[in-house]
Formats: sequence, structure tokens, C-alpha cells
Amino acid sequence: MTTVAIVRCEDYEPKRVEDAVRQALDLLGGLGRVVRPGQKVLLKPNLLRAAPPERAVTTHPTIIRAAVAAVREAGAIAWVGDSPGGVQWNVTDRVLEESGVGPAAKEAGAEIKDFDAGATDIIECPDATVLKKFALARAVREADIVVSLGKLKTHCQTLYSGAVKNLLGCLPGGGKIRVHQLAPKARQLWAAFLDIYAVVRPRLALIDGVLGMEGEGPSHGKVRHLGLLIASEDSVAADAVACRIIGYPPKAVALLKQAEERGLGTGDLAKIEVVGLPVEEAAVSDFVRPSNFAFEVIPGFLMKLIGRGVSVEPEIVQELCKKCGLCQRSCPADAIERHEGLVIDQARCVRCFCCHELCPHDAIALKRSWFIRLYDYMRHKRKRRRDKADAPHS
Ligand code: SF4
Ligand code: SF4
Repeated sequence: MTTVAIVRCEDYEPKRVEDAVRQALDLLGGLGRVVRPGQKVLLKPNLLRAAPPERAVTTHPTIIRAAVAAVREAGAIAWVGDSPGGVQWNVTDRVLEESGVGPAAKEAGAEIKDFDAGATDIIECPDATVLKKFALARAVREADIVVSLGKLKTHCQTLYSGAVKNLLGCLPGGGKIRVHQLAPKARQLWAAFLDIYAVVRPRLALIDGVLGMEGEGPSHGKVRHLGLLIASEDSVAADAVACRIIGYPPKAVALLKQAEERGLGTGDLAKIEVVGLPVEEAAVSDFVRPSNFAFEVIPGFLMKLIGRGVSVEPEIVQELCKKCGLCQRSCPADAIERHEGLVIDQARCVRCFCCHELCPHDAIALKRSWFIRLYDYMRHKRKRRRDKADAPHS
């Protein structure tokens, strides 16, 4: 049986976070089960883009500080490293600074590893499903232990982002965009993430779900207070429990089934023992899903029938666009053209939503088709009816 720990942590008050991280690790048998004195432990936060901690885009600095302290207490050497999203070299310092992760890591005694500035190794995996060859940050291989410090968020393409998806940042710079080119659909993308997971093999996952993100995550959704930390030696199991907490049906996130089939982790909740806070107490019923949720849950035959009625398209809001060109440089399908302003060629767009994820000015909107709007309306109506029926009668 795989174990996942859930711990309450209502806010980011440093002492509360430190206690909660310690409690989560103790519930799993202590950090000493995983980390030996003298080992190099790479803590991999989610540093998607430059955003202040209260936006819930990145793993919170107090979590980093507490994790570094725990590693050092175990007598090991702490590294904190990542490569932010998109094709953006030389931005790691700014992301570290704005997210607060850099100062927190340094103050706690960790060494920063900027994957974009460091050396890379070419990894060949003939048995991989999608990524048979890719460049990996050398620091990932040099570390004795990798810990995924993911952030609990929705994701416009894969629906969910937590511990496993977080490892995409182990690929420096444009390597991440190449993954989107090779895997344009959510299912293929999860297969690619599992290819990375199979190489990186984090020994521990700790998901920051104190403030998560709902709606159009992982960058422009709404901040959602959950007050939780989720930890496991199996990142897939940690993600499975996180998905259960936010009310996703297990089949919605392809990661869980694929990981089971490939023997890379436990995605089946029936095989997971939850310790600490019971999952029913941690669960929320009103977590707002991303617009494209319907794609993953509507049966294929119905999708064919409805055709273009089921679509979510990225659209550049010209009044907000600063013409920085980041979306254009990061688009894996070369679908963004510069005329007077920037315009998306919808015929070429593969709906990866990298542009939406990375735009620093909230200038990419998601245009939902009539069916998606109807689907969301029906869901909310059903929920309101359920809430009314559940409400205590006075
Ligand atoms: S849409 Fe956003 S990322 Fe793209 S050019 Fe405009 S401001 Fe930059
Ligand atoms: S336009 Fe945006 S959503 Fe479409 S392929 Fe390019 S980055 Fe992806």
C-alpha cells in the first residue's frame, strides 16, 4: 500500500509551515527514511514565471524555507533549482526574486541551481513513450535525491498540475517547448511527463496546497485557499490524492491511469493509504475547473457529434498586449504572427495554452465555444441545486 500524508496548514506563517512540513514528513516515517547525511538533495519548486507568492503561481517561499531546513537538519546538502516556463533564458534570477523563493532558499542555507545557466546532459530513453531523447539539467543527475515541491493548480491543457508535472522544469529553456511540439494533446503530454518522471525519479513529493489555483490555471486562474500540504514518496499517489481533494473524477487526469499501466506509480486511490487528515475532510466540492475540462470527460463519440461546438481557443486581447513577443517565441506550433499587433492563427494552434500560461500581462483570453459554456452552466446549476439540498434547514 502506498502512503500519502495530508496535513492542515491554514496559512504561510513560517512557524506553522515548518511544523506542518515536519508533521507531513513524520507521518511518512521521517525524512531520514529517504535522505542520508552528506547527500545532495535537489528541491525542485514550481517556478513557472515571475509572480509574487500571493498569486499562487509558484511554490510558496515558506515551504522552500521549511524544506531546506528539514534537509539540513537531516545532515544533507540542500539545493534549490528550476528552469522557468517557456523560451526565456536568463530569467531565473528574476523569477527567484519575485516569487521570494531565491531569498528564502539562500537564507535557509541552500545553494541555488539555475538550470538555464548550468550544464545539461542528453538523455536517451529508447523505451520512452514520447521523449526518446532530451536535454536534462545536469544538477538533476548530480543530486543524490530529488524532491518535487509542486504547487496544487489547475492547468488549461492537462487539467491539473502538482508533483509529476512540476518535473518539466528539469528541462532547461526551449526543451520544454519541444515537449509540447512532440505531445500536442493532454494524454500525450502526460506520457511525456512520465518519460521525464521515469528518469528523474523524485524520492519525495511535497505539494503546496495552502493556497492553490482554480479556474484557468496554472498561471492566470484564481487563488484558492485549501489550507493543505500533501506529501508522499510516490509523486503519482500524491497527485492522485490531490485530484481527489479538488473533486476530479479519476479518469479526468490521464496521468493516473498511465502511471499505473507503466508501473511508475500508484494512481488508483483504492491502493493508497491516506494518513493524517482524512481525505474526506480535506476534500472540497466547489473547486473551479478549467474551461477545457469537458474535453477529458465527454466520451469521444459525443465529441465527434458536437464537433467544433467543443472548443477553447486562445485569443490575444490587443488592448492588454504589450507586444513583448514572449508568447510568439514560446509557441510550439509557430501559430502566433506579428502584423500590426500579434494574432493567433487558429488553424495552426495546437491548444497547448503555453501562451496563456506565460503571458506576463494577462493578455491572452480563452474563448469558450457554445457547448463548453452550456456544459459549465449546467454544472454550476447542478451544484447550486445540490448545495441547496445539503444546506441545513432552519
Ligand atoms: S500576448 Fe502577452 S506574451 Fe504575447 S506579446 Fe502580448 S503581452 Fe507579450
Ligand atoms: S497559439 Fe498558444 S495555444 Fe496555440 S499553439 Fe501557440 S502557444 Fe499553444
